[in-house]
Amino acid sequence: MTSGGGDGDSGGRVVVVGSLNVDSTSYVASFPEPGETIRAHGFQVALGGKGANQAVAAHVAGVPVEFIACVGDDASGAFARGTLERLGLPTGALRTVPDAPTGVAQITVADSGENTVIITGGANLALTPAVVDAVRDRVVAATIVLTQGELPAATIDRLAVVATELGTRFVLNLAPPAPVSAATLGAADPLVLNEHEARAVGIGADAPAGATLDEWRVLAASAAGGIARSVVVTLGAAGAVAADATDSWTAAAPQVPAVDTTGAGDGFTGTLAAGIAEGRSLPEALGIAVAAGALAVQTRGTVDSYAPRAIVLAAAG
Ligand code: ADP
Repeated sequence: MTSGGGDGDSGGRVVVVGSLNVDSTSYVASFPEPGETIRAHGFQVALGGKGANQAVAAHVAGVPVEFIACVGDDASGAFARGTLERLGLPTGALRTVPDAPTGVAQITVADSGENTVIITGGANLALTPAVVDAVRDRVVAATIVLTQGELPAATIDRLAVVATELGTRFVLNLAPPAPVSAATLGAADPLVLNEHEARAVGIGADAPAGATLDEWRVLAASAAGGIARSVVVTLGAAGAVAADATDSWTAAAPQVPAVDTTGAGDGFTGTLAAGIAEGRSLPEALGIAVAAGALAVQTRGTVDSYAPRAIVLAAAG
């Protein structure tokens, strides 16, 4: 599903500085033992990387998006560019790195549903703090700058400093948890985490498994205004919570038939960032992001599972 890119016409603008991978997925009956060769019964190549996924989600949500990422000068880089163009996302800010391969995730999915993933950072590792300094003019022109834990921690730290200096709202999805500075977490508005990532940064570390939305709302509230300016925690089929220094909210997910939860968190985060960029309040953007996440899990695939703006807004009520 595509479209988007300014349908909201609010003047809001999202710059995503993030990772881009090509996901190569083999579907197997069971995992091979070391030294064993087995046949897969299916194979798929798709655009991935949290930066790419979230850039597409924000674009589909209807705000102008600029995606700053690095690809290699190779067939995977051309595939990634082509996919972004098919989805309508501008690719002018992609940098081609001459001496590194495009980032790749080699994924194996067994019939049991378990998976293994090997990520080769490749060109993503060329997204250094110096690149952040080189794109200051793009950050200053944005309403929001969004990044994720897949980039080098020093790059995320630099982006937080630059965004703060320039007065651009900094949204950090610390997925996976990365050793960023306390100042970087403190600048995040919001810091977006799933339950596992929240525990890793000390939010709800002692919360029992199966803690309720309302219990997580209280935990997020205790961290907002301290660990980060504001906090959002996603809780899978339960929905998500958010808190800033003065208030906190829950958004329950609708009960839906989930067929593929891959990329749901990225769909949620890109939609949330787009909503905030449009000038929506945190609880309003939260409700729309939960609706987007619930729609994404009902369709196979990652970037192709993100529903267009009008469908998401109708579902959010
Ligand atoms: P991640 O994939 O990063 O671990 P989550 O599993 O918490 O993130 O999912 C992100 C969001 O996607 C949730 O907050 C929710 O809104 C939506 N979502 C995920 N799984 C489901 C589901 N089974 N039913 C409805 N919504 C879901």
